[in-house]
Amino acid sequence: MTILVTGGAGYIGSHVVTVLLAAGRKVVVLDNFCNSDPSVVERLERITGCPVPLVHSDVRDRERVADTLRRFGVDSVIHFAGLKAVGESVSKPIEYYGANIQGTISLLEAMQSEKVGQLVFSSSATVYGDPGYLPIDESHPTSATNPYGRSKLHIEEMLKDVALASPSWKIVCLRYFNPVGAHASGLIGEDPAGIPNNLMPFVAQVATGQRSFLRVFGQDYPTSDGTGVRDYIHVMDLAEGHSAALRFVADHPGWNAINLGTGRGTSVLEMVSAFERASGRPIPHEVVDRRPGDIASCYADPTLARQLLGWQATRGVDDMCSSTLAWQKNR
Ligand code: NAD
Ligand code: UDP
Repeated sequence: MTILVTGGAGYIGSHVVTVLLAAGRKVVVLDNFCNSDPSVVERLERITGCPVPLVHSDVRDRERVADTLRRFGVDSVIHFAGLKAVGESVSKPIEYYGANIQGTISLLEAMQSEKVGQLVFSSSATVYGDPGYLPIDESHPTSATNPYGRSKLHIEEMLKDVALASPSWKIVCLRYFNPVGAHASGLIGEDPAGIPNNLMPFVAQVATGQRSFLRVFGQDYPTSDGTGVRDYIHVMDLAEGHSAALRFVADHPGWNAINLGTGRGTSVLEMVSAFERASGRPIPHEVVDRRPGDIASCYADPTLARQLLGWQATRGVDDMCSSTLAWQKNR
């Protein structure tokens, strides 16, 4: 049986494909390449030595998705396809709700018509809004402060209703903390267009001389060194978490939401030091004002993932930085 990976040419999806193929699973990637490049699929074939069937389609093309499910004998779906930039979602809410919510509804319709009931959905720790307590477990109240976060929250609620309606649905929403790092081959990694918003791709571009210095957004937070703290998780750990979630979902009807994080917080300055160790050079940086909307600290309680999936993150910040650097040099 085959796994449909929507958005499989993207950052997280491509790493998940390597793990699934290494485990002997069959996959088909469906992507419209609005935020990735078809060459990623060729690189996946180089890394894994396996053919990676590709359907170039929008996930909102229900007929095309249904045909893919049928033709490839798909029994489970991992749904990554969607738009993910928080800032852009504020200026383009229609595009975000269209790609994320309409995209998920189309996928569900296709799955229903082809009687495919197993779904792993890419959710996000953003559904927790501003943390009320730390570490964040899955019972933490949910809320959203922007259209991107609201789209993830609406989809989670929708999937809960779908799973309640029939025991044929088996759904897991994985709430990612901060995915970073790259595959050890250096052939795939995060490839943001334009100026990176996120810390790791920005630091990587400073380390390789593409940008002159990092702006550290605020050093007056109530954290150990005053800079923001996040739960960075290596994308290969995250990928292995998806493989574990697929095993879990196969015999668990209903709906579950599970954190994928390490449970450890790392500050901006700690990450800068780790990058300096990985690159062997100083990372020029300058403290500037806080970024509007940022929270001080956010990290997961990963206990449920350990209990339900038998999974936990094993890679540390040094590996996150060295793999990011290798990918950045290779790009
Ligand atoms: P990405 O943009 O690299 O990958 C998404 C892929 O989906 C891209 O290849 C893109 O071309 C494709 N895509 C987008 N809209 C599509 C559509 N309508 N039809 C078909 N393909 C489409 O993003 P990513 O970082 O790999 O994130 C994957 C998923 O994980 C997203 O749903 C994102 O919201 C979620 N997520 C990401 C992070 C993160 O920090 N990267 C954190 C939490 C959750
Ligand atoms: N950050 C920073 N400079 C940058 C980008 C990010 O200091 O150029 C900080 C940001 O304020 C936060 C942390 O790095 O404390 C992680 O930011 P990112 O955007 O990667 O993740 P998010 O805030 O969405 O969790």
